[in-house]
Amino acid sequence: MPAAPTDRPGAASTHARRPAANPWAVELRELGRRPGSMQELDRTIPAPADWRLELIGVPEGAPVHLRLRLESVMEGVLVSGDVEVPVEGQCARCLDPVEDTLELDVQELFAYPGSTTEATSEEDEVRLVEGERIDLEPMVRDTVVLALPLSPTCTEDCAGLCAGCGQRVDDLPADHSHELVDPRWAGLAGRFTTGAVADRPGDPEEN
Ligand SMILES: [Zn+2]
Ligand SMILES: [Zn+2]
Repeated sequence: MPAAPTDRPGAASTHARRPAANPWAVELRELGRRPGSMQELDRTIPAPADWRLELIGVPEGAPVHLRLRLESVMEGVLVSGDVEVPVEGQCARCLDPVEDTLELDVQELFAYPGSTTEATSEEDEVRLVEGERIDLEPMVRDTVVLALPLSPTCTEDCAGLCAGCGQRVDDLPADHSHELVDPRWAGLAGRFTTGAVADRPGDPEEN
C-alpha cells in the first residue's frame, strides 16, 4: 500500500540545505557540551582555490573527503580522523605531470572561548569554537598545505632533463650522450639541434 509518503534519500538533513551555508562548518547542537559525547562526520567538500604551493596543489573543486570524529571534551571539541585529497602538479626535475592522493591524519582541539586552553595559548595557535559551530576549513587547509612537497617528483628517482637537449633522461636510451658525437655525424646532428646548446667539438667555425 503506498499510503506513507515516500522518503527521498538525501533530503533528510534539516540544516544542510540552507543556501550559501559554509560546507566546512559543523553545527555542534547535536554533539552538545557533555564531555564524552561523540559524533561521526563523513563529508566530501569541493576544495577551495588556494590550497597549493608553487609546483603542486589541490585542484579547485576537487573532492576533499573528511572522515572525522568529533568528541566533546572539557576544553572544547576534539576533532580527529583522516582527510583524503587529490593533488596535481609538476615534477620538479622533468616537468612531467604529477598526480597523487594524500591521506592525512588530523587531530586538533577547537577550544571554547574562555577555556583554559584559550587563555594559555597564543592567539594564532588555537582554533576556537565559534558560537555553536566549528569551521574545519583552516585546519584541513593547514594540514594539506603542510603535507605538499616543495619539490614533487614523478618517480622517486626521476633523473630530470638532459642538460644537452632538454629531453627527459628517463625516456632516452642509456647511451644517450652529447659529448661523444662521432665526427662523421656531427654535421647531421648540428642540423637537428636548435643551435644554442649544441656542442660540436671540432667545428671549425667555433671560437
Ligand atoms: Zn620527473
Ligand atoms: Zn640530450
